[in-house]
Amino acid sequence: MNTNELILIVEDDEAISKLLTISLFEYGYKTRYANTLALAKREYISHNPMLIILDLGLPDGDGKKLIQEVRKASKMPIIVLSARSEEKEIIAALDLGADDYVTKPFSTSELLARVRSTLRRVHHEISHEILTCKDITIDFTKKEVTLKGSLLKLTPTEYNLLRYLMQNANKVLPHRHILKEVWGVGYQNEMQYLRTYINSLRKKIEKSSTRPEYITTESSIGYRFSCNDVKGNE
Ligand code: CA
Repeated sequence: MNTNELILIVEDDEAISKLLTISLFEYGYKTRYANTLALAKREYISHNPMLIILDLGLPDGDGKKLIQEVRKASKMPIIVLSARSEEKEIIAALDLGADDYVTKPFSTSELLARVRSTLRRVHHEISHEILTCKDITIDFTKKEVTLKGSLLKLTPTEYNLLRYLMQNANKVLPHRHILKEVWGVGYQNEMQYLRTYINSLRKKIEKSSTRPEYITTESSIGYRFSCNDVKGNE
């Protein structure tokens, strides 16, 4: 785990990078910034930030190239901040290994919330045997899930799906990623499987399956297991 409290802002719009620098500073983060892809590569190598906020449209190239480069060597969290709201751009960035995305125009408080939840999740990736989110607890050793203390009856697929979602709490998970991780390679396009199991899981864990609070839908992209405070046993 990187203990360096530094965030690298890669953004060629000066007004946005200034706004981000000030807002992140108020929350106690140190920042560095790069306005080109070339500078971003140098900054990332020489300063080893704990997180990167990355614009995709940069004057000397596509920000996705930085994701590729970083992912060759590290799991350093990357949040894409882009005006490109087209879903295929977002999915491409997530496929390359970005952790999350925020589209412009954006609210600073939303971006800060994403930064905090991404850092929390990375911190919790240290393997835990038990994870708790609000009323749900999953025990990986016993393969048991409880809701408000009562044992929940899940099918093996529902369990594997919930396990994957909770282990990646707060991260946006594209449909194809979930299908590949839970069902396996070759199932990436079986959208109907995913929809069916998301629905059945929601019926078991959500107070209201039409207004879910745990498994939220990222329109056209995928799902996110939303949890303000995911806790692991130490
Ligand atoms: Ca730009």
